[in-house]
Amino acid sequence: MVDGALSFGRVIRGLCELDLSNCVTASTFTYGLAADSQLGTDLFEQHCVTVMDLLQRRMMLDGGDYLGRSELSAFERFDGDAFQAAFDATNVAAAWRTPELAVDTRRLATALRNEIRDRPSIVFRGGCEVLAASERGRSIVVDFRDTSTVRQERYDAVVNCLWDGRLAVDETFGIAAPASTLFRYKAYVRFDSSPLSESVLPSTTFVHGPYGDLINFGNGHYFLSWYPTFRLGSTDSASGTDARSLHRLLDEVSPAELLDSGVTNMSRFIPALEHLRPHAHNVQLGGGVIVARAQSDIDDIKSGLHGRTDIGPEQYGRYITVETGKLTTAPMFAEMVQHRLADIFDLGNTV
Ligand SMILES: Cc1cc2nc3c(=O)[nH]c(=O)nc-3n(C[C@H](O)[C@H](O)[C@H](O)COP(=O)(O)OP(=O)(O)OC[C@H]3O[C@@H](n4cnc5c(N)ncnc54)[C@H](O)[C@@H]3O)c2cc1C
Repeated sequence: MVDGALSFGRVIRGLCELDLSNCVTASTFTYGLAADSQLGTDLFEQHCVTVMDLLQRRMMLDGGDYLGRSELSAFERFDGDAFQAAFDATNVAAAWRTPELAVDTRRLATALRNEIRDRPSIVFRGGCEVLAASERGRSIVVDFRDTSTVRQERYDAVVNCLWDGRLAVDETFGIAAPASTLFRYKAYVRFDSSPLSESVLPSTTFVHGPYGDLINFGNGHYFLSWYPTFRLGSTDSASGTDARSLHRLLDEVSPAELLDSGVTNMSRFIPALEHLRPHAHNVQLGGGVIVARAQSDIDDIKSGLHGRTDIGPEQYGRYITVETGKLTTAPMFAEMVQHRLADIFDLGNTV
């Protein structure tokens, strides 16, 4: 995650004209330790020290670039007054300011989409469902459904970045699915309401267990997700052949009701949230499937969800399959894939 975070800005800037400072929160993220957390305060504090140490050592190696910043503030525990202003001490044991920034993924996605549209060398084929991939000589043949027709096309190399649809296509290529994978659909709401300052409404993620996240983007714009009610469903079928159907769960949800459950539950941790009661037309509902090697859910401290290290690209000749792991690591893995493609096409250092 540290390597992914420290290469994120550099790789994105190499891909598109995007001022990342318009895309990240002005203030940094807070980690709140829930009173009934799976981890105690000392253990979590030790974790903060370890991460900061790792960050600083990595930053020193190449001058450091964390989303355009070369200097990072240290992890810092909230003192009495600041803590009282933001958190309910009944439900929050302690909180730490961290150097972490939140990325506005909508802005980032728009910039990347525009870049794809404007590059004649990239042919975008929307509305297609990839069904299978197979090796034929020095080519990879891809079967896909284009509207209602199933077609085949031959490629010199293929990169499978299908996330929730990836393992099912890998299986058609002959790659066995990992022993256990959990596909969870997690929703979020974004909404506009009164602009409250970070001192009473800090961007916070609560750990360690089934809690939630709040992002205060500033100017009254917020992101909220409360795990117990926003985790809409899951499947653990081996290659996730039914994982794509999880997306339909979002159609059955009322944005206003979901927001209400998020605000009600999260305000037990951050009381000022109760003051945010946005109009229904200001609530945007979104979400996605989260794929991870795990058997049990986040409320199990031994769950694989708490340590997703077995991620990245794997290569089988001219077929590369990418387990992205987290958005944080996506650009770093994209760069690794770029180098592997350069090897396949024998492009040396020209890429
Ligand atoms: C609510 C939520 C919060 C998250 N929070 C964080 C976070 O705080 N930090 C973090 O680092 N990560 C976070 N993530 C995870 C992050 O979003 C993912 O790791 C990341 O989006 C994966 O990127 P990707 O390009 O691999 O997959 P995607 O962005 O999902 O792209 C895969 C694409 O392939 C398409 N596809 C799938 N199967 C097929 C098929 N058979 N044929 C054609 N198209 C297909 C999909 O529709 C999709 O468009 C979060 C995810 C969710 C849902």
